[in-house]
Amino acid sequence: MFDCLTDAHCHADFTKSSPDGGLDAGMDLCACACYPEDWKALRDFSAPKVKKSFGLHPTRADMNLLPTIDDYLEFASAVGETGLDERAADGIPLEQQREVFDTQLRLADKFRLPAVIHCVGFWGELVKILKEWAARSPGAKFMLHAAKCSPEIARELEKIGGYFSFGLRELNSKKGAACAAAVSPDRILVETDALPSREIIFETIGKLADLRGTGDVELAQSAYVNYFRFYGK
Ligand SMILES: [Zn+2]
Repeated sequence: MFDCLTDAHCHADFTKSSPDGGLDAGMDLCACACYPEDWKALRDFSAPKVKKSFGLHPTRADMNLLPTIDDYLEFASAVGETGLDERAADGIPLEQQREVFDTQLRLADKFRLPAVIHCVGFWGELVKILKEWAARSPGAKFMLHAAKCSPEIARELEKIGGYFSFGLRELNSKKGAACAAAVSPDRILVETDALPSREIIFETIGKLADLRGTGDVELAQSAYVNYFRFYGK
């Protein structure tokens, strides 16, 4: 129905027999490979409308896994997803997550790329790290994927280059809905965080438009413009 659907954050599945990794969804999308074993398959895949993001997820934060990522970032539209995850802190202490996160933000600078951010808990720490990044890298852009921070934090993040991407899971939660209602129209994106699907994106746009009291088409168009402003052409 819309010719301007976008999926700002999805994941391929190259383990299936399908050679397209499930990415042939008929819309503009950014596929994220956030584990080292997924980097190569995504790099070697190419199709129109598919952008790529390579990073190391905080649940696998380990400096020893990072050295080869430069070989992939040359083909990337973003670094990530990277960030902090309180649920993983038993096995991967905050200090270690912070080091791996900060290293990836420095890679974003090196390759002049925006960053895709994952955060569960640790919000104070996340805001602090992103503020430090923004201060040393004017013009840096980042997208909070699966956004459900408080409206207050969202406003702080907008001031330093933050975009916000929402999927059905967030929009169906109280926190996510409050965040989605609060962010500026020029910072909003939509995502599946799974195999891309026009049907799911369509439903997400409808839900998000309802929450924001706007029309579906208007919202889809904003997300489209924001997608290309964030990831580049
Ligand atoms: Zn994801």
